[in-house]
Amino acid sequence: MSALPPGSTIGILGGGQLGRMLASAAAQLGYRTHILAPDAESVAAQTASTFTRADYHSRIVLDDLAAHADVVTYEFENIALAPVEYLSTRVPVRPGPRSLEIAQDRAREKTFVGELGGRTAPWALVTTLDELRSAIARIGAPAILKTLRLGYDGKGQVRIHNAADAEAAWIEIGERPAILEGFVEFTHEFSIITVRGLDGALASYPPPWNEHKDGILARSTLPAPHEIAVHWAQAAALSARVAEALDHVGVLTLEFFATPDGPVFNEMAPRVHNSGHWTIEGAECSQFENHIRAICGLPLGSTALTGSRVEMVNLIGNEGDAWEGFLAEPGTHLHLYGKGNARPGRKMGHLTRVKRG
Ligand code: AMP
Repeated sequence: MSALPPGSTIGILGGGQLGRMLASAAAQLGYRTHILAPDAESVAAQTASTFTRADYHSRIVLDDLAAHADVVTYEFENIALAPVEYLSTRVPVRPGPRSLEIAQDRAREKTFVGELGGRTAPWALVTTLDELRSAIARIGAPAILKTLRLGYDGKGQVRIHNAADAEAAWIEIGERPAILEGFVEFTHEFSIITVRGLDGALASYPPPWNEHKDGILARSTLPAPHEIAVHWAQAAALSARVAEALDHVGVLTLEFFATPDGPVFNEMAPRVHNSGHWTIEGAECSQFENHIRAICGLPLGSTALTGSRVEMVNLIGNEGDAWEGFLAEPGTHLHLYGKGNARPGRKMGHLTRVKRG
């Protein structure tokens, strides 16, 4: 298992800010990047060496990417599985298609993590309104109905306050396969960002406390409060088991609820994660660099904090307009993603504040 030498090309499926930050980390290590995304404007393409704007399903395009890339990775999990599987027959794809297959289906990821000893909220797969009604009777209310696939940032979710909400919720979710999840009374939310190398080496970052607003991550803070810290070892051990069971190579993120009875697994992403953006300045080696190191077969970097306190704040919608003021704050690092249109709810950038010493 030899390391890819600098100058090699990394193919990245997806053209958003995660691809942008991966491409920057790759460039720092001397790699070239080739972005494949259907978007007219790709913010990842702005920092990459090459950009192919095309649909993921074109064989000609996939063959071309496989011919030019030495390894391929993906920056989001809502990509169709078929092109990733096809690519993996022509070029190493890391993480492999299995990580994607499990993580893009809420029922499969909960089953998978549950079988490895993780605790989940009570849940049931529902494919009809009748099944939803009986799931509510079994699990109780309040509960949350989530689309089985393609949900993100709180999208594709409906709260159910009582049994009478069933029909409206079923229509709102688009009458599609979904899971009903019991409501978890948590004190905090946190994530474990694990990286697994090509040789099976494992590392994970200290867990951030993640605060959400309107279903979107608003802030991550480290070190996490006591209510999270007590669950760190257990959640990190579970994440390591998941990474190993998937034979995952690269970064893998598991999100948890902290409850007085222990950590409850919520969902996972087979990729770098918004709750790890603080690692660019707040950790010795960022999640982006560690992902690149892992998929290129390099040794992993240290995940230790660089300061006594680290905070990451997302800039959503027009919050990025105040960029000049953020630049004037000592110890504040501003990241803007180069997106043109500051729509409400759109992630435009983030700030990281590191307290040294
Ligand atoms: P998700 O897309 O699953 O990450 O959900 C988005 C947000 O909704 C989470 O970060 C939580 O704040 C909330 N949420 C999701 N599932 C549950 C649950 N079972 N119980 C309580 N809150 C939840």
